[in-house]
Amino acid sequence: MSVRRLLASISFSFALLGVVSGQTVLPALPVEKSPAPPTPARVAAVAASPVQPQITFNSVHVDGPYIALTFDDGPHATLTPKLLDLLAAHHMKATFFVVGQNAADHPDILRRALREGHEIANHSWSHPNLGKMSDEAVRRELQKTDDAIAAAIGKRPTLLRPPYGSITAHQKRWIHDEFGYRIIIWDVDPLDWKRPGPSVVTSRILKETHAGSIVLSHDIHPPTIEAMPAIFDQLDRKGFKSVTVTELLAMATPLPPKPTATPRASPVPVAAPASSIYAPPVITTTPGG
Ligand SMILES: [Zn+2]
Repeated sequence: MSVRRLLASISFSFALLGVVSGQTVLPALPVEKSPAPPTPARVAAVAASPVQPQITFNSVHVDGPYIALTFDDGPHATLTPKLLDLLAAHHMKATFFVVGQNAADHPDILRRALREGHEIANHSWSHPNLGKMSDEAVRRELQKTDDAIAAAIGKRPTLLRPPYGSITAHQKRWIHDEFGYRIIIWDVDPLDWKRPGPSVVTSRILKETHAGSIVLSHDIHPPTIEAMPAIFDQLDRKGFKSVTVTELLAMATPLPPKPTATPRASPVPVAAPASSIYAPPVITTTPGG
């Protein structure tokens, strides 16, 4: 190595030290290599890491055929155990967003679900429209259910699904701060609560589900449970793997960079695939959820 290269190398090392320690150290000699421009991967990582961590999820951007099946409003004395049998037979994992008063009535079912690898999460105590309630009333709904789940399975939930998907931005913030919950909505809704029949529930779920989907269903309606064997079979045939919501969130990968600087090649807007969209905060008043 020439003396000049050696000196340049040393001064570059000092410059790096200066950056690390927060001081401004100017290199004594010109550095031959300018810092590498940010790679697309770095840009994407920065773009996907805003100052505030993401709290609300409708779906998750993942590399792989992973989905989350979620069941709301139980546990139900007979239908939830039946569903657990089906999940076990098909090697599927699910997340149960339980109503607190049902959880308090059936702690044994929650224990079984946990033992079999499923996740238990908060869906309020009495299924009210949280978006229209005072902070104090919401706090009571969530705390009672958090306590009922902890009493049943020995650990507290980390996820909340507000009934009807109804929640304000202010509520999301303080609920996340106080309870540590992430707010889980959904991107696949078969409207099974309207009881359209097992075949319609099946076809809606199979049509809308893609990698990273969070699928909403309810384990309190017999036709929903009746639809599950065919749904599980066909999801399996399509190569999907069902994991819990927390597992799906852990698989999240950065979104590809958006081509904002380049002019549109075609006058027709092309919709991004739903899997790549982190939907904005949602307040819905539909009976789903
Ligand atoms: Zn619900």
